[in-house]
Amino acid sequence: MSTSSCDILIHGGGPVGLTCAAWTLQKFPDAKITLLDRNPLNDEELANSDSRGIALSHGSKILLDTIHGWPTESVAIHQVHVSQTGRFGRALMTREELNQDALGHIVRYRNIHIAVRKALRNIQLNSPNFSWQYVTKDHDAHGIHAQCIVHAEGGLFKDQDWVETGRDYDQSALVGLVEVENAKPHQAWERFTSEGPLAVLPSHYGHNVLNLVWCGTPESSQHRLTLSDADFLSELQNEFGARIGRFLKIQGRRLYELGLNYRKEITIDREVWIGNAAQTLHPVAGQGLNLGLRDAFLLAEKLVGVFAGSPKDQLTLVLENALQEYALSRKIDRTTTIGLTDFMARVFTSNLAPIVAARGLALSALQWAPPIKTALARQMMFGRR
Ligand SMILES: Cc1cc2nc3c(=O)[nH]c(=O)nc-3n(C[C@H](O)[C@H](O)[C@H](O)COP(=O)(O)OP(=O)(O)OC[C@H]3O[C@@H](n4cnc5c(N)ncnc54)[C@H](O)[C@@H]3O)c2cc1C
Repeated sequence: MSTSSCDILIHGGGPVGLTCAAWTLQKFPDAKITLLDRNPLNDEELANSDSRGIALSHGSKILLDTIHGWPTESVAIHQVHVSQTGRFGRALMTREELNQDALGHIVRYRNIHIAVRKALRNIQLNSPNFSWQYVTKDHDAHGIHAQCIVHAEGGLFKDQDWVETGRDYDQSALVGLVEVENAKPHQAWERFTSEGPLAVLPSHYGHNVLNLVWCGTPESSQHRLTLSDADFLSELQNEFGARIGRFLKIQGRRLYELGLNYRKEITIDREVWIGNAAQTLHPVAGQGLNLGLRDAFLLAEKLVGVFAGSPKDQLTLVLENALQEYALSRKIDRTTTIGLTDFMARVFTSNLAPIVAARGLALSALQWAPPIKTALARQMMFGRR
């Protein structure tokens, strides 16, 4: 790679890196940004890639709408039913209680990835100093000099080599697409089983085709991956019960190992870490990408403030101060979201009798104490600013 320079160098062309570039360029089209992307140039090559269903909050939709980056292949959640297998305690959250159009939306990872790429390509048309470089693993950024380096390399729990502070929940998520007999449109189900949460989420393929995210021990998950379709569906039925009729078909089974990695410091001098490069969460609360998008949006605001307005001779100082302010401004949202997710991942997968009983009580309390339920749902939908 030849030597070149830019103001902002973004490593990583996942949803978080792409949106950070898009929000910065939308407000400051002259920004000198270089984005290093390890994905293929052609969107069609992504069309068969990562198919896991992701729950995005209404807050994330509002953010993505600002760059026309919302995928058409999405479905709104109007209610969420939470329960635990074979124990008492359940809660139902509805959009009416929160006075919102939707509690959230389900989108497949690849659809959001492609939608955001398209949004950035449109913004690129009016961004003369933006360079989007497709790189391979063998390339690196040694030849590029930048004022500010944004790390958005993302990654999955066990693939990350920076593990600063982490927790291995000894769980994997088996994802896939299931067809059922009789699902209620726009309803999501989260069921806490003895091995971990089992989420059955709507999809844009019709109301009887649902996204499955089934967490269990790595051994059970591996076993479920290799079962015949019929045996798999029967095991799933046993865990989930008959609320949505019979499970009829399963396709696209794949596994993800789950855990928590997070950086205590998300800025050092003129470098900053966002999205999964800053924190990788258990999917139990569906918060990883939502939190990453908030990282990207708020960082973009700071970067615009620095590069659109600072005199050249003060740039370094202004930038370092702005990144420190950014880190401070993300503290409450990060701490709350990471803490809540970690708590849920541990408490909702414990089999200790007192915890199981407390969990049932907590679910019932949620159901009968609307202010707690509303506060929790709002945190999930919009985070803390
Ligand atoms: C099973 C499962 C279910 C989930 N469900 C939810 C959910 O319901 N709701 C939710 O909000 N979140 C969910 N998440 C989390 C969500 O997927 C992540 O938080 C999100 O993908 C993070 O986006 P990112 O852009 O930071 O990283 P990534 O999506 O990992 O993207 C990073 C990109 O950077 C590229 N890259 C890596 N290294 C480099 C490099 N050196 N140079 C250039 N490019 C590089 C990678 O190829 C990749 O394309 C789930 C995760 C899992 C595993």
